This record gives sequence, structure tokens and C-alpha cells, in this order.
Amino acid sequence: MRVVLLGPPGAGKGTQAIRIADKLSLPKVSSGDLFRNHQENDTDLGRLAHSYMARGSLVPDGITIKMVMEWINTQNNSKTFLLDGFPRTLLQAEALDKELNFDGGLDLVLYIKVEEKELIQRLEGRLICKKCQTPFHIHTDPPSKSGICNKCDGALYQRDDDKPSAVKQRLQVYANQTEPLIAHYRKSGKLEEINGQRSVSIVENEIISILTQSK
Ligand code: AMP
Repeated sequence: MRVVLLGPPGAGKGTQAIRIADKLSLPKVSSGDLFRNHQENDTDLGRLAHSYMARGSLVPDGITIKMVMEWINTQNNSKTFLLDGFPRTLLQAEALDKELNFDGGLDLVLYIKVEEKELIQRLEGRLICKKCQTPFHIHTDPPSKSGICNKCDGALYQRDDDKPSAVKQRLQVYANQTEPLIAHYRKSGKLEEINGQRSVSIVENEIISILTQSK
């Protein structure tokens, strides 16, 4: 299965990607995590990406496409993967379609839909584990010990781009650049829409059921 998780920032793509990849043993990648890893390692790419990410803009297509294609091509079996946060522009979607064209293309695009008011609440209260990337929420899903991840004891932090001014910009960028992908994938008959306003486990069960049925 080659699957893409599509949806606005805060829809729960990252949370679901971690759970589903784990349960179904799917190789997965988050383009945002790849950029954050580069930043942690202080690479040239990390420094370049930081200037876009901190203000909530997209990293330019050429750089992003190259980075994600490299990840796909380093997989032993590129027939199976889960992409979280890529593609985010039509150009990225076209590059992905082209890359996979000779091998049947993508199988499914799961569009997780959540209303804007809810997205803002989720993003502005979000805390992420530095070590394992598990997300928490200061009100709706607080960690047992303040500032410490329940899963791995890693330190929790608030992403720079979860601060209010960057959140506003990310939602705007999503509406302008990423939303057109919904029509793109709907046209190709690969889009499944999922109501992301329900609990994490209900959304997870629905995704797993869609994926196991379409195997
Ligand atoms: P995320 O962790 O998916 O919320 O991504 C965080 C940030 O990384 C985004 O706001 C962008 O600045 C950058 N980013 C992640 N994925 C992409 C992508 N596919 N295209 C361009 N920028 C991206």
C-alpha cells in the first residue's frame, strides 16, 4: 500500500501516522520530521528550512521534493509506505505521481477533515516529545508528569510554529496551497474523507479498517 495522509495542520495526521505505521508495520515518513531532524543536526538544509518553518510558510518545492524522493528511494521496498505531510502542493503531488507512475501510483489518499476553530485550539495547546514525537495537549491530553513524555520520558516542547502568529499563517498556506490537492485526488478516485473531529482511537480504527479492506 502506498498511502498519503492529507489534511490541515492540527488534523491529527502525525498522531495517526505513528499509530497506523506501528499497527500495520508500514514504513512511514513525515516531511516535517525530516526537516526537524535536519535542524537538530544543524545541516545546511535544516538551517534553510528553519527560516520558512518558523514563520509557518512552506519550504520551497524543489528542496522538499528532493528530500522526500530520497527517503522513498532508500526504502528497500518502495511499494509500501505512509506519507505524512507530503505532498502539500500540486507540484509536489505531480512529482510524486511521476515518481510512482511506472509502478501503479498511489493507492489511497486519506483526507482527515477538521474545522478551523478546533484546529486552532489543538495547535496552540500542543506539546511534542523531542525524542519520539508523540504529541500531547495541555488541556485535552496532558502528560502524567508535567513536561515529560509518558511513552519515553523525553522532554516535551512547544513547536515555534504552533505559536499563534505562525498558526494563522499555516492555516492560510493550507487553504491556498494544499486544499487544491483534495480535488486533484478526488478526481483520480483515490480520496477517502475521514471525519477527524472524533476521538483519536475512533479515527484510528476507521483508518485501519479502510486500509485493511483495500489491501
Ligand atoms: P508539519 O510537521 O507537517 O506540520 O510541518 C511543519 C513545517 O515543515 C511546515 O509548516 C512547513 O514549513 C514544513 N513542511 C513540512 N512538509 C512540507 C511540505 N510537504 N512542503 C513544504 N514544506 C513542508
